[in-house]
Amino acid sequence: MQQPRHRIRGSRRPLTLAGATALALATMATASSTLPPASSASAGPVAAPRGTGLAPCRIATAMGVQMSEGIPTAAGYTHSTGEVRALNLMIDFPDAEAAGPAGDRLAEFFPQTSDWFHTSSYGRLTYVPEAPVKDWLRMPRPFSEYGIERGSPYEPGYRKLVRDLVAVADPKVDFSSYDLVNVLVTPNAGPSALDTVLSVTFSGNDKAPSADGVPLANTSFVYSRQDDGSGSYAETGYRVLPHENGHVFGLPDLYTMEGGGAVGHWDIMSEDWGANNDLLGWHKWKLGWLTNDQVSCASATGTSEHTLEPLATRGGPKLAFVPLTDRSGYAVEVRTAAGNDEAVCRPGVLIYKVSSDVDTGQGPVSVADSTEDSGGCTRQPNVHAELSDAAFGPGDTFTDRSNGVRISVLGKDAKDTYRIRITRP
Ligand SMILES: [Zn+2]
Repeated sequence: MQQPRHRIRGSRRPLTLAGATALALATMATASSTLPPASSASAGPVAAPRGTGLAPCRIATAMGVQMSEGIPTAAGYTHSTGEVRALNLMIDFPDAEAAGPAGDRLAEFFPQTSDWFHTSSYGRLTYVPEAPVKDWLRMPRPFSEYGIERGSPYEPGYRKLVRDLVAVADPKVDFSSYDLVNVLVTPNAGPSALDTVLSVTFSGNDKAPSADGVPLANTSFVYSRQDDGSGSYAETGYRVLPHENGHVFGLPDLYTMEGGGAVGHWDIMSEDWGANNDLLGWHKWKLGWLTNDQVSCASATGTSEHTLEPLATRGGPKLAFVPLTDRSGYAVEVRTAAGNDEAVCRPGVLIYKVSSDVDTGQGPVSVADSTEDSGGCTRQPNVHAELSDAAFGPGDTFTDRSNGVRISVLGKDAKDTYRIRITRP
C-alpha cells in the first residue's frame, strides 16, 4: 500500500460511549466466579507446546486495509528490531519563530523515547536518536501557508513542507543513513494540542519526497505539547512520539472516533496522553519483540492449558492466541503495574479480540471487560477509566457464546504467573 497513513484523532477527552465493536464484544463476555481457583502448584495437561503450530495464529494482513494488525507487517515500514537510527529535525516558521533553543525541544522526547522502546522491546530494539543539526531549521514559508490541519493527508501541504524541509536540511544531513525521521515542530506553530492534535505520521510511503536518493517514507511530525495542565508533562509529554513511531513500525491506531473505549490504556496506540503504558502482547509479537517460543496457539479443538508470565518482565511465556478465523482471534496476556505499565490498577489476564481486516482507527482491537459498567479502578487524568479494571482474575471466565470459546483463569502464583484454560470448538 502506498497510501499515506495518518492519525485521525478523536476527542482529547474521549467520550464515555464505547465503540460499537467494543459493545458487541462486551455483550459476549461474561465474568463468572463459579470456578474454584486452582492451586498454582497443580500441573495441568498442556495441549499446545509453545512455539510450534503457530501458523493458524498468524492472522494475515487483509487486502484493502491501510494499516493492519496482521502478521507479517506489510513491506515498506521501518524494521522494528536491532538498531534503528532516527533523524530528528527541529523546525520553525517565519510566523511561528521558536522561543527557546532547539535542543530543549529535542530534550522533551529524548532519552525518554529511546528508553521507552528499550523497555517495551526487552532490549530487542535499540533506538538511536540523532540530531545532526543542532539549531532550528527555519522553513521558507509561514506555517499558515502549508495548510496543516488535523487529519491532513500527504497532499499537497505536507509535500510542500517536506520538500522545503529537505531543501533547507540537505546540505547538513545525509538522509540515506537513517531509518526514520522525526520532525519536531516548534510548539507555538498551530493550535494547542488541548484543542486539536495535529501530530501525524506518514509511514510505509515510498512516494514521499526523496532526499539523498531515498524517500522519506517513514516520517513522524510532532506539534504542540500534550500538556494537560496536571504538572506531569515532563514525565509523560514525550509519549506522543513512541505512539507516532508505532505507525512507522506498522502499528495501527486503536482509538476510534469515539475515543479510547475499545482498548483503553492498555496500548500506547490507543492512548498516548497521561500515565505511561505499554503495548499489547499482540503488537510485541508483530514487532518481533516476543519470540515464537513465547507464544502459544490454541488452534486445536478442545481444551488446552497455558502458563503466562507478566508481559512487562523479560523472557518466559507471554501470549496465548485463540484463532477464530484467518482474520481474527482472541489474544490473552498478563498485565501488571511494571515496566512501561504505570497505570495498571487491577493486574490480571487481559483478553482482547484482534481483527486484521479492520482498519486503523476503526477498532481493530477490542478489549473484553471483566467488570462491565464498573466505572473502572482509576481516576488518573487521560486514562480511560471503564476498561482500567478489565483484566480477569483467578476464578473468572470469559465466554464468547457465539463462537463457543471459553477462557478461564485457573490461578496464579506469587510471581504473578497465571494459568489459564482455553476451550474452543
Ligand atoms: Zn496514531
